[in-house]
Amino acid sequence: MDYDIIIGIETHVELDTHSKMFCTCSANGFGAEPNVHVCPTCAGMPGALPVINKRAVEFSMMLGVALNCSINQHTFWERKSYWYPDLPKGYQITQYQYPMCYDGYLEFDVRDLSGGWNEQSYRKRVRIRRAHLEEDTGKLTHAGRSSYVDYNRSGVPLLEIVTEPDIFNAHEAYAYLSALQDIVRYLGISTGDMEKGAMRCEPNMSLRPKGTDAFGTKVEIKNLNSLSAVRGAIAYEAKRQSAALDKGEKIRQVTLGWDDVRGVTVVQREKEDAHDYRYFPEPDLPPLDVSDAWLDEVRAQVPELPIAKQARYQSEFGLSAYDAVQLTNNKAVAEWFEKGISAGKDEGPVHPSSFILHPFAKRLANFIIGDLTRLMNASGTAINQIKIKPAQLLGLAKLVEAQTINSNTAKLVIEEMFNTGAEAQAIVQAKGLAQVSDSSVLEKTIGDVLAANPKEVENYLKGNEKLLQFLVGQTMKASKGKANPQMIQSLMKAALERRRL
Ligand SMILES: [Zn+2]
Repeated sequence: MDYDIIIGIETHVELDTHSKMFCTCSANGFGAEPNVHVCPTCAGMPGALPVINKRAVEFSMMLGVALNCSINQHTFWERKSYWYPDLPKGYQITQYQYPMCYDGYLEFDVRDLSGGWNEQSYRKRVRIRRAHLEEDTGKLTHAGRSSYVDYNRSGVPLLEIVTEPDIFNAHEAYAYLSALQDIVRYLGISTGDMEKGAMRCEPNMSLRPKGTDAFGTKVEIKNLNSLSAVRGAIAYEAKRQSAALDKGEKIRQVTLGWDDVRGVTVVQREKEDAHDYRYFPEPDLPPLDVSDAWLDEVRAQVPELPIAKQARYQSEFGLSAYDAVQLTNNKAVAEWFEKGISAGKDEGPVHPSSFILHPFAKRLANFIIGDLTRLMNASGTAINQIKIKPAQLLGLAKLVEAQTINSNTAKLVIEEMFNTGAEAQAIVQAKGLAQVSDSSVLEKTIGDVLAANPKEVENYLKGNEKLLQFLVGQTMKASKGKANPQMIQSLMKAALERRRL
């Protein structure tokens, strides 16, 4: 039978503030010695009072704005009571009745597995039910018969983002989370690093026969620590549940974990009855009121987001959707590209009739997506650490555009620029790399090549036209790659045709 898969996702994002949600301890304790970033407040000592972290409130409002949410300007904190060794107070301070942000949506593109756009790709909108601010718990580690607890993470600001059940397969879940990850990184409110626990997600899903309305039994999948684990776990569960339903079995309401190595889900616990968390207003904190002026200030801090940038790169610079996505995946790369563009702003379009609206945009994009990315990956350097400056790469683009060098030579030059930080023009001069476009020089090289390859010339004249490319190649080689390839092509053809007469 065919089934509809219905997925909702809860994502916990650790906010990248200096201090914790309700005390001045460092919030950046990942990898530190256990229990060094701890004080009476975040260790849950009786009588220690919490103080609200203003920046964390701003960060959560920024995300709300980015996710098209309404913002609750009047909210208050509530205690969620439960006991666990990683929660020393015996309760978590959270927002329950009035989350910081509510009723928004996230729009993103669902692409093919390699991130490309094909006929199966589409734009998707997932409604955001709420995003509320709370504090993280400590971290438990189990080893043998012992368990250890580290309170460095206890009290780190945490934003929980809950979607409506608008996601219908593993692929969409992956695309949603990767769009959300891009956004928190663009906003600078979280590292979004799943492997470090800065972003953790719990999909819940159920299946129902296609065409029916009633929701099936829901399972939850916990502790997924990578985007591919999310995709793997959902795809696996969809298969497992549809096979079980086909056999007439009932789906049990359980909480599952994901075994990355074996590629299977494992039952962690049967669903107990709903907890009674006994929520009540936090008596140690005042209500949280956000003035219009403060909200406006926060709105102004929200930068242009990836999907808007992609649209602008296409309309303003004539770039392809693929190029636009490649350039905007990483905010630092997008900013670097834009610096290069603005360095050449006064140049004006040289190809008014072509699709290239900015004369060097396409070349800059190609250099960044191609050679520069390859060089950065090989050397493990981030774009804001490299020696080449955006204006210098624009300089290289101009040399190619002006046909001073050809694109083969540009590959050598960009490598030299990457290693030394020298100007393109200086490298071309010092190494004598300028393209040879002097037709008398090229004619002479062509004459030599034709004289050295009489058999090929004869066969070409007999009709084997493929040999033209061979002879052009030989000429490029003889010029050490510096010849203008378009000129060689046409001069070679003319030289051969003359021999027919
Ligand atoms: Zn503390």
